[in-house]
This record gives sequence, C-alpha cells and structure tokens, in this order.
Amino acid sequence: MAEHESLEFGKADFVLLDNVSLEEFMANLKLRFEKGRIYTYIGEVVVSVNPYRAMNIYGRDTIEQYKGRELYERPPHLFAIADAAYKAMKRRNKDTCIVISGESGAGKTEASKYIMQYIAAITNPSQRAEVERVKNMLLKSNCVLEAFGNAKTNRNDNSSRFGKYMDINFDFKGDPIGGHINNYLLEKSRVIFQQEGELQRCFKCIFQLMKGAPDAQLRSLHIQRDPTAYTYIKVGGQIKSSINDSADFKAVTDAMKVIGFTTEEIQTVYKILATILHLGNLKFGSDGDVTLIENSKLVSILGDLLSTKDENVEKALLYRTVATGRDVIDKQHTHQEASYGRDALAKAIYERLFCWIVGRINDIIEVKNYDVRVHGKNTVIGVLDIYGFEIFQNNSFEQFCINYCNEKLQQLFIQLVLKQEQEEYQREGIPWKHIDYFNNQIIVDLVEQQHKGIFAVLDEACMNVGKVTDEMFLQALNGKLVKHAHYTSRKLSPTDKNLEFDRDFLHSAVFYSVVGFIDKNKDTLFQDFKRLLYNSSNPVLKAMWPEGKLRITEVTKRPLTAATLFKNSMISLVENLASKEPYYVRCIKPNEVKSPLLFEHERCKHQVEYLGLLENVRVRRAGFANRQIYPRFLQRYKMISEFTWPNHDLPSDKEAVKRLLQSCGFEHDVAYGKTKVFIRTPRTIFSLEEQRAEMV
Ligand code: ADP
Ligand code: MG
Repeated sequence: MAEHESLEFGKADFVLLDNVSLEEFMANLKLRFEKGRIYTYIGEVVVSVNPYRAMNIYGRDTIEQYKGRELYERPPHLFAIADAAYKAMKRRNKDTCIVISGESGAGKTEASKYIMQYIAAITNPSQRAEVERVKNMLLKSNCVLEAFGNAKTNRNDNSSRFGKYMDINFDFKGDPIGGHINNYLLEKSRVIFQQEGELQRCFKCIFQLMKGAPDAQLRSLHIQRDPTAYTYIKVGGQIKSSINDSADFKAVTDAMKVIGFTTEEIQTVYKILATILHLGNLKFGSDGDVTLIENSKLVSILGDLLSTKDENVEKALLYRTVATGRDVIDKQHTHQEASYGRDALAKAIYERLFCWIVGRINDIIEVKNYDVRVHGKNTVIGVLDIYGFEIFQNNSFEQFCINYCNEKLQQLFIQLVLKQEQEEYQREGIPWKHIDYFNNQIIVDLVEQQHKGIFAVLDEACMNVGKVTDEMFLQALNGKLVKHAHYTSRKLSPTDKNLEFDRDFLHSAVFYSVVGFIDKNKDTLFQDFKRLLYNSSNPVLKAMWPEGKLRITEVTKRPLTAATLFKNSMISLVENLASKEPYYVRCIKPNEVKSPLLFEHERCKHQVEYLGLLENVRVRRAGFANRQIYPRFLQRYKMISEFTWPNHDLPSDKEAVKRLLQSCGFEHDVAYGKTKVFIRTPRTIFSLEEQRAEMV
C-alpha cells in the first residue's frame, strides 16, 4: 500500500508539501524521523536521516516487497532506489549510478552497504557459481577497505577516511560479473596524528593488528600490544570501545585470503603497518652539526621489516641525495628536515599501501573473459560514497578539497536532475519549460580554472624556487582574485592567515586557513625514500614503488601536486557520473551525540540548506509533482469515476485516464505523455487520494 495515504507519518515525498518553505520541509523531516520513517523522497531522490538504532527494515521480507516494484508503490526506501537503478540498467540497458552524500556520520557508508546487499539479494536467481563468487568478492572487498580506510573519530565510530566509487558490472541477464573501485583522497595525515580526545583513532587496521595478531606474528614485527607505546597513535590509543579488533583482525586477514592476496602479500601489508609504528618512535638528535638517530635499534628493525640493509635505512633518513650540475652529493638533513622526512615517509607508505590494496582488489574483481558478442552489453551500476561538505571552526587544505568535490557534485546534481526531467518530458512528448536555478559553476571555476583558479595559483606558488610561505600564497591569491565576486580574504589578527571564499547558493561563506596549504600541496617525499623502498628485496614492496627506479640524475619532472591530482580525479569522476543515469541518496545526521531520539533542528536545517534540498523540491515542482504510468494510475483511482469502475470500455488506458480526470475536473492540471500521466500540483493528488479513500 502506498504510504502517502497515512499522513500521520508526514508526507512521503517533499514534493507534496503544501508550501515549499524551509519550515514545512523541516517539520515534515522531523515528524518522519520521530515516527521512525527515516526515508523520504524528493521525486526520485531519497532523503535519509540516520536513525542511530537498528531498524527492522532491511530483511529478506522487505527486500521481497521492493523487488521489481515501482518507486511509488511502497514507502520510501533505499531499496526502491536500488531497484530503480537496477531496472533502468536491466530494462533500458542504461549504465546507472547511485550518488550518496552527506556529512561524516550521516549514514552514507551504511546506505551503500544496504544498496549492495539489496543488489546481491535480487540477482543471480539461478545461483550460478561464478556470479556467487563475484558477489562474495565484492562484499569481502568492503571489509578490507574498511579496515584500512576507516577510523574511529569523534563524529563517527566507523568513519570512512577516503572517498569511494565502486562500479558493479552486470551481464545481459542482470547478474554481477565483476567490479572496479576508485578511491579518492585518503586522509593520510591521520597516520601520524589524530585529534585529542579518547575516541580519536588511527586507521582500524593498526589496532586490529595490535590486538588480534598471534604473539609470534607480533614478535616478528617487533610490535607490542600496547598502543600507547607508539608515538603516532598514542593520543587516541587507549581503546575504550566496543570495537572488536581481535575478531576483526581475523575477518580481515581471511577476507584478504579469500580475495586472493598471497601469504607474502598479506605479510608485507602487516610489515608496512609495523614499519609505520616504528618510524613514529624514531628520535633524531644532534652531535654538533651532525644529525643522528638516537634509537638506532629501530633502524635495524626497519631494515628487517623493509628487507633492506640497515645502513640504507639510516642513510635515507638522514641524508638527501642532490644533483648539482653533473655531480651528485649527499646532503645531510637538519634535525627538522629529518623529522619531516620521517613523517612524510610514514604517510606516503600508508597511502601507497592503501592504493595498492585497492589495485589488487581491482585486479581480482575486474570483469574477465567477457565477450560482448556472446554475452551482450555489459552494464554498470556505480555507487559513490564520498565525504560531504565539511565546515569546521578551522578549515584547511583537506576541507578545501572536500568542499570543492561537493561543489562539483552539487553542480552535476542540479544539471542532471534538470536534464533527467527534460529527457523524460521529451520521451513522453510533453513540452519543456525552462527552470531557473543557481548555477554554481562560478564557484567551481574559482577553484579549478586554469591559470586563474585557486588551485592554479597554489600550484604556481609551489613551483617557485626558494622558500615559499603560505603567506606568499595568500598574497598571490589576493592579487589575482581580488575582483572575484565570490572571493575575499581576511586577516583576523596580524598573525592570522585566512583566505575566504563564499558560495552564493548556500548564502554562507566558508573560511579556510592557508596554513599548511603549500606543504600539503607539494606533498614532498624525498626521492631517497622511493629508492630505498624500490631497492627492497621484498618484491611486493618493490612493486609498490616503481618510481624509485630512477636515478637521481634522471629525476627531472616534478611530481604532480596534491591539488592537481585531486582536481583531475574529480573531473574524471564527474565525467563518469555524468555519463550514467544518476540516482541520489542525501543523508542527514540528526544530532552530534549518536542519539536515536534527538532531532537537532539547527543542525538538520544547516544540512538541508547545503545539500540544496529545498531547491531540489522546487525544481521538481516547477515541472510536475507526480507522474504515473497509465495502467497503474487507473488501478489506483479507477473507483472514483463511473467511466472506469469497475472496468472501462475505452480504447486504451490513456483514454480512460483522460476520461477519469475530466470527470473529476482536473483536466487543466495534467499533461498526457506517451506512457505516463503528469500531474502538476500536489493538491490534485491529495484530492484524488481523498476521493479514493471515500470509496474504499
Ligand atoms: P558516514 O559514512 O556517512 O560517515 P556511516 O554510514 O558510517 O556514516 O554511519 C555512521 C553510524 O550511524 C553507523 O556506524 C551506524 O551506527 C549508524 N547508522 C547509519 N545508518 C544507519 C541505519 N540505516 N540504520 C541504523 N544505524 C545506522
Ligand atoms: Mg562513511
């Protein structure tokens, strides 16, 4: 039974609000949350509020209810969206994608898992072994990625610290035959530093190893079970939580085995984690002008873990090889440079490890032996689970990148929602009326435009020889962007270094502190470390660092900056999404304390605003609030007209619907497409519903 009958649960679709105002929107959202209705539509977009409690709405019976149904036949649910994406793919041969957005802890990752579970549950009815294998791989890969890419933070016990886009490939029967994962911007700074507070933690895999590995394995890694023994993780090291690291260690190791990681690979993965922990404990001292390592015992442990000679480790940590003309000399690090290098190494090897794990998973899950001529078109459903807007007290380079990503996705969202509407109208032969909306392209350009954009100015600053400071970068920005309508910079105090740019469509500004931008963008890892790792006698490690092959005199090109890499990955992500038929899940976090009861009005309102949800409702309503295919419309409302009850003798369902609507006096409010009737105002739907209720 369609839920829009029972109004005690609020409106199941925001499009049906009497007035599109923020107040009404919020009131409906709150009512539904309080009634345990965590999903609400805006047309075909699902708005989800994190319930922070186990909901009995994901079981086998629920799956059955949604399987093959149309969106409006059942209460709003993720499953309905997953099914719609699946149907579009199967019936119309379309590549589709499901874009899940929202802030940290809003429920994105859980949503992506339910969507995957749904797809796994409704496919492969004939239980083909190969398909079951692929499904198992896809689900197992999640477990591994979460171990290495997630951490417990103050905001979320299982916070994904990377963006993830996963394609699932389907054969002509609609069964999964493989997949591919893209990862974006891992928060690698977490490897060496976590915020104060007992809940803050490094990546989960570290604690899993520490708590779950057998004694012998830990001994061989020279690791103790006590997190407080390690500088990099001791801030948040004390574990006072329900996370069962020890069982997870086993599950993750098993998952790696099932996916097909070799024993040597798995061992190397843990050696790398151990390397990072030991690196953090390295202490540099000085003897006159000479920088030294105080705890040299660690050097030999590192040599052992990295399968290389101790003296190579020591040299890479203390010296930098530089080419001066034709000569190559070893230049000693200062104390500070050595510490910088050590931390950069720890972050870099973790990031590389993560990317390597994703690559290995991709090797294994990619579609193999698929012949289009034999099997028909291979179609795709992509699922994007990516960090939403982050606006903190102090915003840095990471927030800048994340928010830029969201600007791009927001742009795509508006364009595609409009495009989708337009295409549907065309398909149905209904005239299209232009809809006005704020185009945030101007903000996207401000960030990414060549030569003039903020990223370009940042890259230029990083290219300068000599010491470039964040302050100089800010000056360059001010010089170039002073006239830009969406850029201003401010100094809160003489020592303060802020840059600000604002976003019109949010009606609010975001401030970023430029401190650290240069450093994070350059993301320097001394070449010596790359050579060290490449020259390891551990083939797995060696393969992770191919660029270490270059001799110092051969290294001419600067590596791409972090901003450029991120920008390029975002551009290709958006291109990829734009080529698919999109479905959206917009997640909202109801409160900061993980409570199932609390709906913090201001917090939620803020999210509704920056997700542009109200605008979404307006776009949707500017056209037609509701549309239904003729047979279904008739089935639902035929009892309210004598022409259609109990049966009609008109030549088609379309004619019958026309007749029905004429007889009710709604002719002026509808348009008749080829397969669907389009209803402009929600009031008409209510009225039809009321009349129906009187009859049944
Ligand atoms: P995000 O990926 O957006 O940061 P998560 O998906 O990890 O957030 O969700 C954070 C936490 O909220 C989960 O660990 C879980 O406790 C809870 N949660 C999220 N979605 C649901 C849901 N549908 N049902 C029950 N609990 C949920
Ligand atoms: Mg997540």
